[in-house]
Amino acid sequence: MRKAVYPGTFDPITRGHIDIIERGIELFDELIITLAINADKNPLFSVDERIEMIEDAVKDFDNVQVASTSGLIVDFAAAERAIALLRGLRYMSDFEYEFQMAWINRHLNKNITTLFLMPHRRYTHLNSTVLREVAELGGDIDSFVTPMVAKRIKQKFHITT
Ligand code: ADP
Repeated sequence: MRKAVYPGTFDPITRGHIDIIERGIELFDELIITLAINADKNPLFSVDERIEMIEDAVKDFDNVQVASTSGLIVDFAAAERAIALLRGLRYMSDFEYEFQMAWINRHLNKNITTLFLMPHRRYTHLNSTVLREVAELGGDIDSFVTPMVAKRIKQKFHITT
């Protein structure tokens, strides 16, 4: 049973994340999407809201679990007997941070391998921050998220369309 953990903030989950998930489930028997609870970040959506949106987005995949942790991701992965951490790489600006995280995670647990996947080019410039900013200003975000996420974002920003 080859398991991987896909960690992230998912504030909220986008089609870029889903693209990585679809690829990941081809490579592993089980994928655990793991919401990393980070006290330093000030998310738009609560942990429960983000989990609900992830669960809705992956409801049709049977080898995907959804979890959260406020501890070290490698510790969570080891406890789950996962062998890999999945991360998305979009452009060079992602590289420096991702490289640093992969390095420290390898230092913390050499048995867990970080694996980078590239999304479809239509999602290359998509991130949750851009999405939140465009949505707040009333821009069209429907093609970048699931219908549930589009609805929840509009509710947050009191947009009625
Ligand atoms: P984090 O705060 O851990 O970066 P995110 O939720 O922003 O959390 O991202 C989780 C992972 O998904 C990261 O590896 C990120 O690079 C990747 N990711 C985010 N958006 C996209 C996208 N549009 N395409 C591919 N990967 C993405």
